[in-house]
Amino acid sequence: MQRTRVDIQKIVSSVPVKVIPETLYYPDEEVLYKYHEADIKHHTLFKDINFSHGKITISKQLFEMEQLNGSKCIRQYAKCVGVKSCANLSCEDYGDPIPYTAKRDCRYCSEKLVKSGPCPVKFYYWAEENGVQRLLYCYGKHNHKEPPPYQTRKMAIETIGLAVIANPSLTAYQLSLGIGLPAGKAPTQLCATLINQDKLRHYAKSAKDKHYKVDTNSIVTIKQVETHLFTEVKEQKSM
Ligand SMILES: [Zn+2]
Ligand SMILES: [Zn+2]
Repeated sequence: MQRTRVDIQKIVSSVPVKVIPETLYYPDEEVLYKYHEADIKHHTLFKDINFSHGKITISKQLFEMEQLNGSKCIRQYAKCVGVKSCANLSCEDYGDPIPYTAKRDCRYCSEKLVKSGPCPVKFYYWAEENGVQRLLYCYGKHNHKEPPPYQTRKMAIETIGLAVIANPSLTAYQLSLGIGLPAGKAPTQLCATLINQDKLRHYAKSAKDKHYKVDTNSIVTIKQVETHLFTEVKEQKSM
């Protein structure tokens, strides 16, 4: 059955609402999420589910959403744009179809990256006109690989930071195995971008740099106070 934009309001009214997980990454099943604006960065969320790469249609009409206690909401709609993958099917390279891999060839062979073609997945997003609650509805099954992750979640960066401050000798390789992380969790369970060891190394280093950084501002202040006192003492002596 072809669902039209008109009956989506009816469909979504019967879908059970889920709380959005902190590590939401490209849901592969029909799901309706409810969350507060502050819970998750809208920009990141949209990038990670491919919402922001396609053409986004904003409805002129306002919709009263039951799941948001009847609040009037602005609705946006987008189709999944799929991914680009190597024309050689046994090859692993893939990328976002738009914009940065648009003209790139495969990293492993000389083939071109080709678009996966139309995907049946659709995304709907409702934002309270005068409020902070949001609804995100993803439906359909993707007919392609997951898109490459976009941005590392703040929570994941903080978790890596806490681990290396507690155990500064941890290497990026050890972190990639989940060593030193809460409950031995693999970093990719925190965020899919952490499959990259260079990223792990970078987050570990910046957390340590930040933690052990000497506060140069306070040294300047101490020096200024010292100079001031010294001058005062000198002036008093000469009086
Ligand atoms: Zn290839
Ligand atoms: Zn898709």
